[in-house]
Amino acid sequence: MSKLSSHTEVVIIGGGIAGCSIAYHLSEKNIQVTLVERKSLTCGTTWHAAGLVGQLRATKNLTKMAKYSTDLYRKLNDKDDLSAGFVINGSVSIAETEGRMQEMSRGASMGRNFGLEIEEISFDEIKEKYPLLDLKNVKGGWFLPQDGQINPVDITMCLAKEAKRMGCKIIENNKVLGFEQEGDKVTKVITELGDIACDKIVISAGMWSREIGKMCGVNIPLHACEHFYALTEYSEEIPKNLPILRNPDAHIYVKEDAGKLLIGAFEKKAKPWGMDGIPESFEFDSLPNDLDHFGPVLIEAMERLPILNDIGIKTYFNGPESFTPDDRYYLGKVPYKDNIYVSTGFNSIGVQSAGGVGKVMAEWIANDKSAIDLWDVDVARVLDFQDDTEYLRERSSETLGLLYSVHWPFYQFETSRNKIQSPLYKTLESEGACFGEAAGWERANWYAKNGQKREYEYSYGRQNWFENVREECNAVRSNIGLFELTSFSKFIIKGKDVVNFLNYLCVSEMNVSVGRIVYTQMLNSDAGIEADITVTRLDNDCFMFITSPTSHNKDYYWLLSHAKKFNDIIIQDVTKDYGCLSLMGPNSRNYLQSIIDEDISNTSLPFGFSKKVKLAGVECILNRITYVGELGYEIYTPYEKLVDVFETVYSKNKDNPIKLAGYHALNSLRMEKGYLHWGHDIAIEENPYEAGVGFCVNLNKQSPFLGQEALQIKKEKGIEKRKVNFSLSDNNLLLYHYEPIYFEGMIVGEITSGMYGFSLDKSLGMGYIFPTKNHTIEEMLNLQKFEIEVAETKYKATGSMKGFYDPAREKILI
Ligand SMILES: Cc1cc2nc3c(=O)[nH]c(=O)nc-3n(C[C@H](O)[C@H](O)[C@H](O)COP(=O)(O)OP(=O)(O)OC[C@H]3O[C@@H](n4cnc5c(N)ncnc54)[C@H](O)[C@@H]3O)c2cc1C
Repeated sequence: MSKLSSHTEVVIIGGGIAGCSIAYHLSEKNIQVTLVERKSLTCGTTWHAAGLVGQLRATKNLTKMAKYSTDLYRKLNDKDDLSAGFVINGSVSIAETEGRMQEMSRGASMGRNFGLEIEEISFDEIKEKYPLLDLKNVKGGWFLPQDGQINPVDITMCLAKEAKRMGCKIIENNKVLGFEQEGDKVTKVITELGDIACDKIVISAGMWSREIGKMCGVNIPLHACEHFYALTEYSEEIPKNLPILRNPDAHIYVKEDAGKLLIGAFEKKAKPWGMDGIPESFEFDSLPNDLDHFGPVLIEAMERLPILNDIGIKTYFNGPESFTPDDRYYLGKVPYKDNIYVSTGFNSIGVQSAGGVGKVMAEWIANDKSAIDLWDVDVARVLDFQDDTEYLRERSSETLGLLYSVHWPFYQFETSRNKIQSPLYKTLESEGACFGEAAGWERANWYAKNGQKREYEYSYGRQNWFENVREECNAVRSNIGLFELTSFSKFIIKGKDVVNFLNYLCVSEMNVSVGRIVYTQMLNSDAGIEADITVTRLDNDCFMFITSPTSHNKDYYWLLSHAKKFNDIIIQDVTKDYGCLSLMGPNSRNYLQSIIDEDISNTSLPFGFSKKVKLAGVECILNRITYVGELGYEIYTPYEKLVDVFETVYSKNKDNPIKLAGYHALNSLRMEKGYLHWGHDIAIEENPYEAGVGFCVNLNKQSPFLGQEALQIKKEKGIEKRKVNFSLSDNNLLLYHYEPIYFEGMIVGEITSGMYGFSLDKSLGMGYIFPTKNHTIEEMLNLQKFEIEVAETKYKATGSMKGFYDPAREKILI
């Protein structure tokens, strides 16, 4: 009992590499930490990791974190009394297919922009760096000289030792049994050896995290899968200090260590594990080998590395690791709770990520906010429907394999689908909808023609739905398109103080007349954009707040947590009380007027206003607003009446064919307008002036909004970067994200999102650019010496602050 402090600032649950790294970084900040481990440090997943430490990740900040891991591990490895067996021999990545060539080549452009060293290497160079490889199937290769390999147990022990040296308490053989909570706050951690009172807790318990989350009412959806590798006998024929080899088309990675080869697998269909719970005794355990499962991958490896036919396998290893439904780990503060943090679900990259994870988590815990945009891995993205064992089991069988699949644009998950269907699902299905999943909702992405397969044929170029979406976009631009937008999250905010509340949270003046719709942003105290929303004043003391479904919990919690400072604010989640149809196009008013009694002329219902109307005898809210840049309306119906309203709107349409349109069309049309997408084009590292939505900001409201002070200072200093819309000279190439933007041969920014613009017939993107030493952003836009790099080749591009389609907004305001 004496080992435990009666109180500590932070309790970390789990002594794997992630927990120990957080302990190290918190201790560096002089924060009092107790780390509690149920058995021994590293005994969960960490001890048996293969120890690959790569640096290139899917986003800039995740790559920065992985780079930081390398620097930290190198520093610790070089300390006199520590050693982690860290060697930096680089890595060779091999492509065997055209799709993979595109992926790797685009990845190389992106990685260099993130500051990594990446060289495309010739066949001779591949052979020179990796003589054991048969080049028969090889189409290309890339070398990353700073990648390395480490002993995962040793580096974890280094982190733990250093953390202890700085004052951290590490208590092994002490299982966390539960928590005491007051309201939304954990006050005590109950352990086998006694209780620990604390200010904050961090759940960093690997594949046990879901179970621990349940003890304190937190949803941490993850599932373990079996991960296999084989270790060969020693052979003189194996050259020493080989780089890591990754051949994702063959589903393998290979590590040389002391004259042996370790061959690891990310097979297409994985084996979920732990359906009946993790055995209490699990400690430095492994799982039974399964050659029926692992064998086919080994055969692929033997075809590529002929030496494997001549040397024996010394050990077959199989160990469990946790996987998340979207293949991205969980970090940060849990919504709806005051002091619970999470760092878990590492999808087989926990060792390479842990250094950076420790750093950002320590900042997050110390300051109650993340210093950088980590939305991709933020635990706030977790949704309630994901707390479902069957969903997790099925999805994890897919996500392990996705690590080494080509990361196709517009990829749609194949498992655990149909979790949330709107009442219109069957109707749209019968109209040819090809569905995609967003936040669990099945949404029509595009409409197939009669006889056309509703499947994706993936590529980095124009996919099989390209012409379908062209027709949908053309209908919206020339006549009428009908979208279903029910999945958007909707909150009703009510109360006497509601105007003051919204004026505090939103950058725009919210004391508007009843019926007005306000497009606005919510900022944090550093003026970073937390949400991009529309808010409609339905009544004097009642507003409807609309946000994207992926931001559901993040925005709902943001509203709830700030509402505590105001009197009697009521916030209701009404997402499943309303369906939403969006009728867009130059003929939308004439058509809608023909089926609605209420006057919806431009005088009676101008742009940015809302009105109650009856459709099919059903009372609906009609919002004149657009995300596609046309005259158009969003129709909010009672959820259960959505089909009736749809039938009325759609079936009375014999002479003036309304075309059903999906989310790919929506994305293309918004790109032509330069409209933003939160999470891609804006988030906490952007402010409204940089994002080009400064027109929303009102600095002269009766009292300042959250973030106003910081925003004013930034405005006075002058903005650092600016969102610019781009069109590419080559229409056959498509932009996706992170393509570097050049001006006069120098990198000045990168693309945040891209899509083909069908009505302009242009390949489009948007991104942020920084001024150069010689030119302001305005001068750069006058000179137009832009190029964008796609797959290691630069192409001319035209930049514009305004969207390319209808920059004067004439189509919207008519
Ligand atoms: C075969 C294999 C190879 C891999 N190779 C690599 C690689 O090459 N590179 C890479 O980056 N990643 C690799 N990984 C992934 C990596 O090992 C993991 O992502 C990482 O170890 C996860 O660390 P963690 O700290 O989150 O979890 P863990 O190491 O599992 O630590 C969690 C700890 O929490 C403890 N705990 C659980 N419940 C409680 C409780 N109630 N009270 C107290 N303590 C508790 C557990 O005992 C455990 O020690 C590999 C994984 C496998 C399976």
